[in-house]
Amino acid sequence: MSIRAEDEVARICRDLIRIDTSNYGDGSGPGEREAAEYVAALIEEAGLEADVFESAPGRASVVTRMAGTDSSLPALVVHGHLDVVPAQKQDWSVDPFSGEELDGLIWGRGAVDMKDMDAMILAVMREMARTGTRPRRDIIFAFFADEEAGGTYGAGWAVENRPELFEGAREAISEVGGFSATIGGRRTYLLQTAEKGISWLRLKAHGRAGHGSQINTDNAVTRLAGAVSRIGSYEWPIELTDTTRAFLDGVTELTGVEFDPENPEKLLAELGTVARFVGATLQNTANPTLLEAGYKHNVIPGTAEAFIDARTLPGQEEQLLEIVKSLAGEGIDVSYEHKDVSLEVPFTGNLVDSMVAALQAEDPGAPVLPYTLSGGTDNKSLSRLGITGYGFAPLRLPEDLDFTGMFHGVDERVPVESLKFGTRVLGRLLRGY
Ligand SMILES: [Zn+2]
Repeated sequence: MSIRAEDEVARICRDLIRIDTSNYGDGSGPGEREAAEYVAALIEEAGLEADVFESAPGRASVVTRMAGTDSSLPALVVHGHLDVVPAQKQDWSVDPFSGEELDGLIWGRGAVDMKDMDAMILAVMREMARTGTRPRRDIIFAFFADEEAGGTYGAGWAVENRPELFEGAREAISEVGGFSATIGGRRTYLLQTAEKGISWLRLKAHGRAGHGSQINTDNAVTRLAGAVSRIGSYEWPIELTDTTRAFLDGVTELTGVEFDPENPEKLLAELGTVARFVGATLQNTANPTLLEAGYKHNVIPGTAEAFIDARTLPGQEEQLLEIVKSLAGEGIDVSYEHKDVSLEVPFTGNLVDSMVAALQAEDPGAPVLPYTLSGGTDNKSLSRLGITGYGFAPLRLPEDLDFTGMFHGVDERVPVESLKFGTRVLGRLLRGY
């Protein structure tokens, strides 16, 4: 009898966690090559062809395409990333790269973000390939390097240099959505239909350089400090996009608590551990994160720089830049260090209906709400090819597990039962859509 997806998902997840793919963002990590080869072997063992490619030495991604029965339908991309953020062993209760299973949970860096979903994708793909189950449309399975540093050496590179891999694709599903959270006492699934944009800004203040003992009314450091203080303490207004409005309406329906823009905390309190996760999606944010100025205690430098990590609501990139510029004021240049798009797609359509149906087939009657992710995913890169991406890595989770708090946190862990549930949901979706 052939192995079912549910029977091997936990093993694959543990194997992937044991391959350290820490991404430090500066190329100093071990890279994704070993994980990519592991994935490619699983793909080929199931009888599909794996395309492994590197953007730089060791920075490997893997893509495979499963042919559908109806070539008139656009293809679907199902993608995950192979890298993880680094983990400090001394902060963890277990070795973060041991892939240990304790009390029914798999522990380790990537258990939540996102070797769990990688394993679910692989298990479902292998079961389909082994049993000769063909999807209706082509499915492109992709496992990217470098998501945790913005995808330059992963999805971004693939979109730029290997666009033919995604030919015919119009939609994608990937991480940070589809998991359950308890809202108003009901197990509710959050499906990600929007992502905030990234605007990493550099402020460069100019002034008159001079001796530290002199009167200087044109001091770049003073000017910069004022700007940083104004930007950092600016209260961005609450602004509801279509997605957040639909999300909040859904929460109101489940809890009976109305959203009050003057007091958002009241409704957020109903969300439990998810509150932190969605709180930042009600407004733009702009946090000063780095300062650079001066070279000697008694010398006033001619310039001073600060870096701002701003995250924009869908469609508000320009507006945010203008506000930051006016807060910065005269004598300060504001420029982009890095910019990536925001995304927002409607919570309607055939794919959305199919995702909701797949979830509800496994968890009857559970509400599903759209939400906005305050961070970013590889869907940003795929959007450059006109591919619409959703966050759908389905997991039914125990109520007391602070799942969203474990992204990039310590003691990442995922219940084996949740993985099995997600595998069943994903299998339904990919076989039927
Ligand atoms: Zn991730």
